[in-house]
Amino acid sequence: MMKINTFKNGLRQLDKANRVLKLSEFKMERLRKPEKIVSVYFPVEMDREGKKIFHGYRVQYSNVRGPYKGGIRFHHQVDMNEVMALAFWMAIKCAVVNIPMGGGKGGIEVDPKKLSEAELERLSRAYVRAIAHDIGPNIDVPAPDVNTSPKIMAWMVDEYIKIKLKTSTFAEASADRQNSKLKTEEKNRLLGTFTGKPVEKGGSLGRTEATGRGGFYVLQALLEEQKTNMTVAVQGFGNVGYYIAKFLNEAGFRIVALSDSKGGIVVNNMEKDSFNPELVLSCKKEKGTLASCYCVGSVCDLENGRTISNEELLELPVDILVPAALENQITGKNAARIKAKIVLEMANGPTTPEADEILHRKKITVVPDVLSNSGGVTVSYFEWLQNLNNEQWSEEKVNQELKKKVVSAFIDVFKEAKKQGTDMRTAAFVLAIRRLTENH
Ligand code: GLU
Repeated sequence: MMKINTFKNGLRQLDKANRVLKLSEFKMERLRKPEKIVSVYFPVEMDREGKKIFHGYRVQYSNVRGPYKGGIRFHHQVDMNEVMALAFWMAIKCAVVNIPMGGGKGGIEVDPKKLSEAELERLSRAYVRAIAHDIGPNIDVPAPDVNTSPKIMAWMVDEYIKIKLKTSTFAEASADRQNSKLKTEEKNRLLGTFTGKPVEKGGSLGRTEATGRGGFYVLQALLEEQKTNMTVAVQGFGNVGYYIAKFLNEAGFRIVALSDSKGGIVVNNMEKDSFNPELVLSCKKEKGTLASCYCVGSVCDLENGRTISNEELLELPVDILVPAALENQITGKNAARIKAKIVLEMANGPTTPEADEILHRKKITVVPDVLSNSGGVTVSYFEWLQNLNNEQWSEEKVNQELKKKVVSAFIDVFKEAKKQGTDMRTAAFVLAIRRLTENH
């Protein structure tokens, strides 16, 4: 199968927005290129095979609105093209949700499921040593993404602070009281180099749930807070897929299908049943697979469901389809068979430009990734602020501020789409690029 050029697809979205914006060739050329590309090869001690070399990336796309911001992905298919696309989308996303952060993204070409916990820790720390010069609270602020977690962020920030305190003047200062206070302040500030940390290690309350919660708020705004009995299929059962499924289920939507990278499950009674995502998760943890975790209400029973493939899940006759896994899932090949009325993009780049055209013709509403999954980076921004100001916000405040941010972004995008007569993705890009180019 030919590999889809994800970055090229991002640039096609940009070109489409420029039919409305009509930017100068110079401005377009600037937007088509990342500001800096960091590519590193670094050794990691393995448990048994001695040292191995890994390839890591950090793409710093734009910092015109603030420090570079974006996650780090561990995946065997990570490559420069993908990281560039993801960094570009971060720049757009931060501008859509109107936070003073730029766009960046990182990744390591690795299958983390094949590593022991100790190897994963050494890999995470070695990557930070390799990119340490290029990150910092006012330079570039990484976060979790696919296959990375708060625990990994804790290792990374710990490694970064160790390097900084060793090389900064604070390390040389004598240990009198004032200097040790300075050291603590400096340490707190340096915690703002990474977001998505565990709460007890400088993380923000509500960050883990934030991407899913943000997507839920955006969908509610689209549906004007109607109470519903709508059916939902969720592709992907990582942090994002799990939480969006959980919040939707709690609000009365019915989760009729779920999947992870190995395959999916669907309820037998599509007219009535809903999976209980919490029970499905604990079943999956116990069994190591989603297959047979047909948990409806408070029981997991083989009678309740059956397995399906990821491809079949996408084509189910549901009201809402939530791609929450990887990019390029809805393509020119399967878009015509999508039956959902709404596609809520919780993954980055799940829909290709060809698919976008087809879905638009079929009058399927696509809520674009740069809007619907912007809750994660929004709470990352709150976490960064809390670190810099030495504060701890309550979970209630985090969720309130998150709701304000994403709902107002939704309203901006929705109005722009109406005004320009475009789909919501193009409208989001128009809005973001205006913000990225004005005064720059
Ligand atoms: N990886 C997430 C995303 O794609 C979060 C980025 C962040 O929090 O910086 O939006």
